[in-house]
Amino acid sequence: MPTLAEPHEPRFATTRRLLVPHVRGDGIMPRVSGTLLALQHHLFSYAVAALCAAASLLTASPAHAEWFSGERAIMGTRIAVELWADDKATADKHIESVMQEMHRIDALMSTYKPTSQVSVVNAEAARRPVRVDADLFGLLQTAVEYSRITQGAFDITYASVGYLYDFRKHVKPSDTAIASALPAIDYRHLVLDPKASTVRFSQPGVRIDLGGIAKGWAVDQGIGILRAAGVGRAMVTAGGDTRIIGDRFGKPWMVGIRDPRDENKVVIRIPLDDAALSTSGDYERFFEEDGVRYHHIIEPSTGKPARAVRSVTVIGPTATRTDGLSKTIFVLGIERGMKILDALGDVDAIAIDNQGQVFYSRGLAPPQ
Ligand code: ADP
Ligand code: MG
Repeated sequence: MPTLAEPHEPRFATTRRLLVPHVRGDGIMPRVSGTLLALQHHLFSYAVAALCAAASLLTASPAHAEWFSGERAIMGTRIAVELWADDKATADKHIESVMQEMHRIDALMSTYKPTSQVSVVNAEAARRPVRVDADLFGLLQTAVEYSRITQGAFDITYASVGYLYDFRKHVKPSDTAIASALPAIDYRHLVLDPKASTVRFSQPGVRIDLGGIAKGWAVDQGIGILRAAGVGRAMVTAGGDTRIIGDRFGKPWMVGIRDPRDENKVVIRIPLDDAALSTSGDYERFFEEDGVRYHHIIEPSTGKPARAVRSVTVIGPTATRTDGLSKTIFVLGIERGMKILDALGDVDAIAIDNQGQVFYSRGLAPPQ
């Protein structure tokens, strides 16, 4: 069995996209409870922070319990779990359950595994309806819902062209290859039959890839497992997708969004509890050729990497939602994308455009 990380002292943990300083006993920001809407008033208010930091010193933690954490590479990404538990054995058991769930989801949905149900769908669904597990069927329905919400910016059939790229090997399709595969990108080509739990493609050439939503969903599954086991304070991360339950005893979790062009720089720090957030970045999987950056977020209308922004972070109630929505601004640009997210009411966003300028959704806009 893989070993789990030892419980650690407060530290500044670096993930690929996020920087999460684990504040304990050094309250630097106010506790922001409940909804994200509360953020807008506190985010930039250091006066309030100082007051709350003083107040938080009075909040005592239980005597024996501690923070425990575990990390593993699954689903082609970094999975991290951190939680508050009475002892190491209990924490390890919970962390292991989450990791096992990640393996299950990977085996079900990975396009890199020819035996996964998603791979079988890609191989067969143009010829016949393919029956899939209820979990996967539900996520396909959710994916289609996000295509509708985002006016097609999020579309799992992006893979009809997307599979022609290999960012690791610096491979990109020719314009001719893109043009001939492009008509297959359209979420309306998915025919979902809830009664039979089957999926069919209405035309040949369609491929799906859940890379833009499965990690968020997996994070929510992990949080569900922890909650069911009675864990009240935890953070689960899969790649760019994170969800937090509870706070850190009178203080929020501090989440920093990194500079898309400098992994050691933090653009903004956000206090969060009971929330999810997803960051999409053009610096995650990419290569450059003739001064052009080819990265992994594909514009469904062109079959080419989206150009408007470098990074988008969406904050919301579940990681499935924030993952499904973090591609919106990437593909539609700041103006159209923010408009859609602002109208949803339960999410916020921070976007960094291709000039490095930072934009906030209405709920996070700094006071004038
Ligand atoms: P991560 O996978 O690290 O969480 P993102 O949430 O930004 O990163 O998702 C990027 C992934 O989403 C890509 O690697 C690809 O699998 C998938 N993807 C790319 N373009 C789209 C799109 N327009 N709609 C849905 N999924 C997409
Ligand atoms: Mg994601």
